[in-house]
Amino acid sequence: MDYYIVEEVNNQNQVNENISNEEYGHSILPEVRDNDEQESERQLDENKPFQNLIKRDESLDLCKDKPLIEDLDPLKPYYSVKIPETAPDKIQPQGYQQMNWNEYHNLDVIHKWMENLENNFPSLCTVGAIGTTQEGRKMKILKVSNSEAGNTSVWIDAGIHAREWIAPAVNTFIADYVVRNFNTLPTSFTNKDWYFLPVANPDGYEYSHKVERLWRKNRAWYGGQCFGVDINRNFSFAWGGRGSSGDPTSPVFRGREPFSEPESSAMRDILIRSGIKFKVYVTLHSYGQVIVFPFGYRDELCPDYVRLLEGATVMSKAIYASTGNTYKVGISRDVMYGASGTSTDWSYGSAHIPFTYLIELRSKQHKFLLPKEEIQETCNEILNCIKALMEFVDNYPIDKNSSKLYKTL
Ligand SMILES: [Zn+2]
Repeated sequence: MDYYIVEEVNNQNQVNENISNEEYGHSILPEVRDNDEQESERQLDENKPFQNLIKRDESLDLCKDKPLIEDLDPLKPYYSVKIPETAPDKIQPQGYQQMNWNEYHNLDVIHKWMENLENNFPSLCTVGAIGTTQEGRKMKILKVSNSEAGNTSVWIDAGIHAREWIAPAVNTFIADYVVRNFNTLPTSFTNKDWYFLPVANPDGYEYSHKVERLWRKNRAWYGGQCFGVDINRNFSFAWGGRGSSGDPTSPVFRGREPFSEPESSAMRDILIRSGIKFKVYVTLHSYGQVIVFPFGYRDELCPDYVRLLEGATVMSKAIYASTGNTYKVGISRDVMYGASGTSTDWSYGSAHIPFTYLIELRSKQHKFLLPKEEIQETCNEILNCIKALMEFVDNYPIDKNSSKLYKTL
């Protein structure tokens, strides 16, 4: 989380978005700017990954750990989850460094952890690459699913901004927890197709580990210099608006055009063109301890403000019940700074994902340099937060007959 001088930019490519996600009763947005004409079409491409990757006749290879969620009290909506004592992996690639949440890891360790999960839990886990960065690194994604028909698709990404190391740590923790405890988890976890993208900006992430700890953007070159593009200003929805910059030296440089970057375009392709109907989009950032939902590009409330606010409040309460930490909730206008061309505005406004949230993790005190001693607590509170969101999503009356969802402001 940074504060920048807001730069007003004229937006010329305004189009009306009139596609509604009927399955989820997504509200029709009256004035939406999207600079990518093709986005409104959800295209099924047989060559795309993750459409039908898990065979339905595979038996589940479930872990033998004891239940880790205790004292489920129906009168108490939130509860704490113990940090799991994970069993040793059965298959370890040569040179494999055991993943843990006591320290921050580089890309190689995270990718090997993903492959190891797939090896150990082949009927639950599928690993694949959704794109390749300019420096040739894979954008690896982990799908966790029991392949039940009717599962809800949930997306959680992290590391769009390189220096926010706690975000990939939390993302991998939640994925690891879901996989290793799948057979003892409540339905709100197991009725989901989970898609985890732990490091959405692999080039920047590696650069922040090896060269410049506080590097934020990707490693794009402009005019013979590596300035980097802010991937979270490069999405097409309201691209070029406030809180973004056309100056390559700016920390919020939006790129030369929407989806000019391989990282954002790879995310677009799976979120909107893969044929998967995502119901939840969560992106993890740091720092600030806030839960933000669309819109960031303007101050006016979105048509689904009440729904999104209710979900954010449930998440924030779960965090407080878990560790006593306070996370503010609201739209950018109220809790952060304005931003345009973000993944959250696009996920809600263009991909029509009804539950779209950005979580700014810890901490206000340490900013981007969160001590490794706080990793596990942060993971714990966000796991509870995600669990609360899953229950909220499952119980929310979200169908096209629900008048609540068509309430406009
Ligand atoms: Zn960030």
